Amino acid sequence: MATDDYSAVSRALATEAVHAGREDLAGLGLHAPPLDLSTTYPSYDSRDEAARIDAFAATGALDDGPPVYARLSNPTVARFETALARLEGTESAVAFASGMAALTAALLVRASLGLRHVVAVRPLYGCSDHLLNAGLLGTEVTWVDPAGIADAIRPDTGLVLVESPANPTLRELDLKAIAHSCGSVPLLADNTFATPVLQRPVESGARLVLHSATKYLGGHGDVMGGIVACDEEFARKLRQVRFTTGGVLHPFAGYLLLRGLATLPVRVRAASATAAELAGRLAADPRVSAVHYPRIGGAMVAFETVGDPHEVTASVELITPAVSLGSVDTLIQHPASISHRIVDAGDRRSSGVSDRLLRMSVGLEDVEDLWADLDQALSGGQGRGGRAGQRTGAAS
Ligand SMILES: *Cc1c(COP(=O)(O)O)cnc(C)c1O
Repeated sequence: MATDDYSAVSRALATEAVHAGREDLAGLGLHAPPLDLSTTYPSYDSRDEAARIDAFAATGALDDGPPVYARLSNPTVARFETALARLEGTESAVAFASGMAALTAALLVRASLGLRHVVAVRPLYGCSDHLLNAGLLGTEVTWVDPAGIADAIRPDTGLVLVESPANPTLRELDLKAIAHSCGSVPLLADNTFATPVLQRPVESGARLVLHSATKYLGGHGDVMGGIVACDEEFARKLRQVRFTTGGVLHPFAGYLLLRGLATLPVRVRAASATAAELAGRLAADPRVSAVHYPRIGGAMVAFETVGDPHEVTASVELITPAVSLGSVDTLIQHPASISHRIVDAGDRRSSGVSDRLLRMSVGLEDVEDLWADLDQALSGGQGRGGRAGQRTGAAS
């Protein structure tokens, strides 16, 4: 079945967010989803178990029978997978221990077919860039601008990899045009920043949609996970890789991620409204030389400071200076020092990640409180007796 059939039968996103993956609960006499922590399951019929294992090994398809072993499948994680697939409008989704484990599995699926070449557009999340550039998985990467994708594709190209809006510059790409340039090579779009609330890449022709579930899907900064939403054919290959390499999502993480999805639309829309307001105020501020905010919106704002960006991260009081994003509280970090430190400095700068760039993940706080904190931090905490001032005082 084509992926559009799945989006066509979907209810509104806000409804799916709270109901998908939970349809059987009332029949079970439950309201909250059960958390199944079993690593193994009893089976008194070894012949039947052998046949089921053979079928999984051959196809990667999961049957309706009871689970066998937690590295194969888990019912709580499966609820999260079902729900995310519905939100992204795909047939299936396969969850992993982290976003990087999910990306690794997608690369291995293709590399195992001898398709070891990857075409990618910068910037990407720093560790994704590093994974490709270092060739850790035996893959080879060609970095291109979107216009160069078609020419870079070779007979052994297994994937085209893009992020839009990209981490950390929030560069936006024309996913439809890119999908067209890919021809028959699968396009993997990292949708971590936009979330399905703002953008569903399969509607533009992406075959694979990747999330660091650690970010907005979880939404509370307390769970790490990753997921690939795609057609069932690719999902089967991903499950086989997950089974053999072991990068499984823990069931408790699956539980928290399913819970996070329920509030995803509300969180993303509320934080985006605040982020848009802050982006406007930053753009009008003489202490800021550039602001990057996507046309599709979102809760991420990137901006370049006229002064030293390290002063800002040292001076925030309400905002937390920390890597990661997508939590209920606002975080700020300096990509050249942290999230993109692992990218070669020359490659980093040429892909627009300036040494003055700060990346802010806007949370659910009141916009005036956030602005007050940014305002004093942009002045290096002057006149507020901020933490930077206190630290300086203690040292002198
Ligand atoms: C954080 C992030 C990743 C990696 O996800 P982890 O869950 O940290 O492994 C991948 N892509 C993007 C865009 C990210 O922000």
